[in-house]
Amino acid sequence: MTDQVLLSEREGAVLWLTLNRPRYRNAINVALITALDEALSTAASDDDIGAVVIGGAGPHFCSGHDLGSPGRDLEKPFRRVATTWYDHSDKEGAEAILVREDEAYLSIPLRWRELPKPLIAMVHGACVAGGLSLIWPADLIVASDDAYFADPVVRMGIPGIEYFAHQFVMSTRIAREFLLVGDRMSAARAYQVGMINRVVPRDDLRETTARLAKRCAARPRFGVALAKRALNAVEDRMGLRDGMSIAFGLHQVAHAHSALTLGDHVGGQDPTSIAQDLTVE
Ligand code: ZN
Repeated sequence: MTDQVLLSEREGAVLWLTLNRPRYRNAINVALITALDEALSTAASDDDIGAVVIGGAGPHFCSGHDLGSPGRDLEKPFRRVATTWYDHSDKEGAEAILVREDEAYLSIPLRWRELPKPLIAMVHGACVAGGLSLIWPADLIVASDDAYFADPVVRMGIPGIEYFAHQFVMSTRIAREFLLVGDRMSAARAYQVGMINRVVPRDDLRETTARLAKRCAARPRFGVALAKRALNAVEDRMGLRDGMSIAFGLHQVAHAHSALTLGDHVGGQDPTSIAQDLTVE
């Protein structure tokens, strides 16, 4: 069941990666994060790969972090690649949650942002909560017109996802609405507020993405890598990493509070009912 959580195919200089847990709407477990990280690390060092696309199999791009599938692997140990934290799996309470989430949900997506090659997210259907941490580190985001985006975790008493980049991918005014109202944002509106690069009919999604990926892949490798470093450095100096680090601490307080008062670090809420409660603006 866990063998093929990520599919990989080459088309010229473009590597296409497909999240492949369609039965669970590509819910993110550590097996999927690890597979994605390994594929991106390999792509970084393969001179024949000039750009990488991440898409999703099935009706939705991604439903967020895995809150209940049989493949949920919260307590499993996994190898650290982005932090120097110790193993979380034999720890308890806030220590176990913070150590795991710092590595898997914050530092690994930040590492993907540093990929020295263009990274393109291709989104259809839902891209919710943790799913945003798969697309926000990308350079370009292409969506089909049926795509929608939401970070509804304030409904669970949590102040936004671990990868707290909301105010860097849309204006701070819209980010406030995105978090505090917490409704779905349609692809059309996501384009309007500057969060995504293209909205196309579903049938054109792959072709439009392929065209952009091919053009990015044809650019000089070193020039692209340096441009990305410059873009990331400017965002960092605008406060991206500092803000994320503060928000991550608050996020962990929310998990601890939830565990203390409700006995469950995600508020004891049924994620399905939250998904159903989301409305489009
Ligand atoms: Zn969390």
